[in-house]
Amino acid sequence: MQLAERLTRISVPQTIRMAKLSRELKARGIDIVDLSIGEPDFDTPEHIREAAKKAIDEGYTHYTPVAGYLDLKQAVAHKLQRDNGLEYTAEQIVVSTGAKQSIANAVLSIVNPGDEVIIPTPYWVTYSELVKLCQGVVKFVPCGIDNNYKITPQQLEAAITPQTKLFMFSSPCNPTGSVYSHDELKGLAEVFEKHPDIFIISDEIYEYINYVAPHTSIATFGSLKNRTIIINGLSKGFAMTGWRLGYLAAPLEIAKAADMVQSQFTSATCSITQRCAITALRGPLDTAQEMVKAFGERRAFIFDALKNIPGLHVNLPDGAFYMFPNVSGFFGKQYEGERIENADDLCMFLLHKANVSVVSGAAFEQPQCIRISYATSLDRIREGMKRMTEWLAKLQ
Ligand code: PMP
Repeated sequence: MQLAERLTRISVPQTIRMAKLSRELKARGIDIVDLSIGEPDFDTPEHIREAAKKAIDEGYTHYTPVAGYLDLKQAVAHKLQRDNGLEYTAEQIVVSTGAKQSIANAVLSIVNPGDEVIIPTPYWVTYSELVKLCQGVVKFVPCGIDNNYKITPQQLEAAITPQTKLFMFSSPCNPTGSVYSHDELKGLAEVFEKHPDIFIISDEIYEYINYVAPHTSIATFGSLKNRTIIINGLSKGFAMTGWRLGYLAAPLEIAKAADMVQSQFTSATCSITQRCAITALRGPLDTAQEMVKAFGERRAFIFDALKNIPGLHVNLPDGAFYMFPNVSGFFGKQYEGERIENADDLCMFLLHKANVSVVSGAAFEQPQCIRISYATSLDRIREGMKRMTEWLAKLQ
C-alpha cells in the first residue's frame, strides 16, 4: 500500500502511546498507578454543564460560523482583556476543536518549506510534528534543569538565523511545569524586538494552573502583539478536555488565514460546547482556583517524595501539573539482569515492576528525564511514590 510520504515525517506522541500501554495493563487486571496523565482529574464545573444542557434544549444543534459564534469570540476577547490586559476584536479570534487544532491552524498558516522554527526543549510533542508536516526545519534549543528548563535571551539570540520564521513555546510548560516570569519574558521580548519578522506562538493553555505569580503573556511586551499568536482553550483550566474547545488570538491577517485553514478541516467545533464556553469564559474562576489549590497540595507532596529518592534530581516547577526530574543517575544500573540504559528503559521498568506509569523525557527531547503527572488523587500519588521509591532502590 502506497501511503503519503509525509507520514514518514511524523509519529504518534509517546504520551498517547504510554496511556494506551497503561490502559492495556489495567484491562488485564493489573493495578497501575497512572502518573502519565495529561488532563485534570476533576469534573467540568456544574454551571458549565448546565449551560450545555440548556444549549441542547434551545436547539443549538446546527453548523456554526467556522471561527465560532460571534458572542463566543466576544467572550474570548473579554477574557483576554480581563485576565491578560490585551485588546482584541472578535475578528482576531478563531475558535477551534482544541488548542491542538489552533496550533495546527497557526503553523499551517505561517510555515513554508525550509523555514526555521525555534523550539526550546523540553517541549510539547505536537509542535515539532506540525512543523515537519509543513516541511519546516525544527531547531531545538536544549534548556537544562539549572535554568528550570527555560530558554535564556542569549540562547534565543544565538539560535536566530535569517531563515527563522517562528518561535514556539508554552508557559506554563508541558512537560516541565515551568512558568516564565514577567522579567524572563521581557528579556526574550527584547531579543524579538531586534528581529521584527519572527512570529511567536505562545501556548498558554495551562494559564490558570499557576502556583506562584499572575500569568503574563509575551504578547503584552512592546510590539510583540502584532506577531504573536496566543493559544488557549478550556481543556485544562476548566477541566474540559473532552468538550474540545481551543482558540487563538492573533493579528487579523493570521486569524483570517487560520479561519480559512480550519474551514477545510473541521468547519468549526461543536455548537453545544461553544455555547457553554461563553458561560465558562465570562463566569467566575472559583472552580479553577479550587482545582489549583488541590493541585498545589499534591505538588508539595510529590516534590518532597521525589526529593528524597537518591539518584533523582528534581526542581519545583511553578505551574501545570507535572514534575520533570532528571533520572540519569539510574542509567547503567540494573535489577536481576535488566539494565537501565536510558529514560525509556526506566519507564518500562517502573511500569512493569512498580506498576507506575510515567512518560520518558525522550518524548519531549530531554532523554535524561521523565515526566510525572500529579493530575490524580493524593492517595494514588502517595501509592505511586511508595512504589517508585521501593523499586528504584532495587537498581544497583
Ligand atoms: N498545548 C499543550 C502544552 C498541551 O499540554 C495540550 C494538551 N495536552 C494542548 C496544547 C492541547 O490541548 P487541547 O485539549 O485544547 O487540544
